[in-house]
Amino acid sequence: MLYLSHPSSLEHDPRAHMPGHPDTPERLLAIERVLADRDWLGWGRREAPPAGEGELELIHSAGHVEAIRKLCLSGGGAVDADTFVGEPSYRAALHAAGGACEMMRALSGDGDGIGFCALRPSGHHAEPGRAMGFCLFNNVAIAAELAVRDLGAERVFVLDWDVHHGNGTAEAFRSRSDVLFISIHQAGIYPGTGPASDFGSGDGEGYTVNLPVPAGADEDLWLSLVEHIVVPVARSFAPDLILVSAGFDAHRDDPLAECRLESGSFARIACHIRDLAAGLGTPLGAVLEGGYEPQALAESVAATLAALGGEGEAIEAAPEPLLTSRAAAGVARHWTL
Ligand SMILES: [Zn+2]
Repeated sequence: MLYLSHPSSLEHDPRAHMPGHPDTPERLLAIERVLADRDWLGWGRREAPPAGEGELELIHSAGHVEAIRKLCLSGGGAVDADTFVGEPSYRAALHAAGGACEMMRALSGDGDGIGFCALRPSGHHAEPGRAMGFCLFNNVAIAAELAVRDLGAERVFVLDWDVHHGNGTAEAFRSRSDVLFISIHQAGIYPGTGPASDFGSGDGEGYTVNLPVPAGADEDLWLSLVEHIVVPVARSFAPDLILVSAGFDAHRDDPLAECRLESGSFARIACHIRDLAAGLGTPLGAVLEGGYEPQALAESVAATLAALGGEGEAIEAAPEPLLTSRAAAGVARHWTL
């Protein structure tokens, strides 16, 4: 169990350009305070190295990488209405992507290893040619592509449980059948993508699964989706690597969304994914995305790390109403549930 972090993550602070911005270094400080109090739950810690430009360009255009580098090194500014960088943000973003790559190298060839990257900025909104939604480079997509191109992975499953749709990851792999992308997200909020009707395109038709949930969605609904759709679809895909875009902003205390999970809910979801990985004999790597109420985030991360590390049992008790929903009907056209 490997936990990756780097001090540069604390130097990226959008509040320098927009006071009151929710993506703060305090998010990570809260996580590390809670984990330190619990003796890091038995996880080994490693510093994330910086990504090389070649690693960033596994997903991003050279022009995008250069534009972000220049903007940061010239003192920073706005990338869009809610994404801001300062001079230290480029270095932070290199380590955030580099941590995900380092996690891949550590897990590669390690049958059932588990990793967690606690780094900023997050990545799942960053598209191949565009930074957006607090994200500069798509850490989880870079990790998935590195695994496929350099580390011998043939099929990678990426689960995005952040409350916002992982549009960047979806775009990177929407025409690919070797990367299965499943996202559970609140419908109708940022970034507005990820309808249940979008199953990817071309050779990737069926390998994108969007599971939007309404505002107010609680643990029963999320667990029902995990149990009755995410796990069976992933099992039929038979990946040799599982990655999680682990955002914790579906927590009931989060200021950016209206779902109603609690810290224990993330643990219960994580138990299912841990058991899925163990059953398939694949490594499991998770990358921090959102979560904007620092204490709720910290407790949710700690609960997740405890579950990934083996604590608790997957409860198979969630109701099945979603099997009759439009989303599930669409999934059933592509997958055996
Ligand atoms: Zn989010």
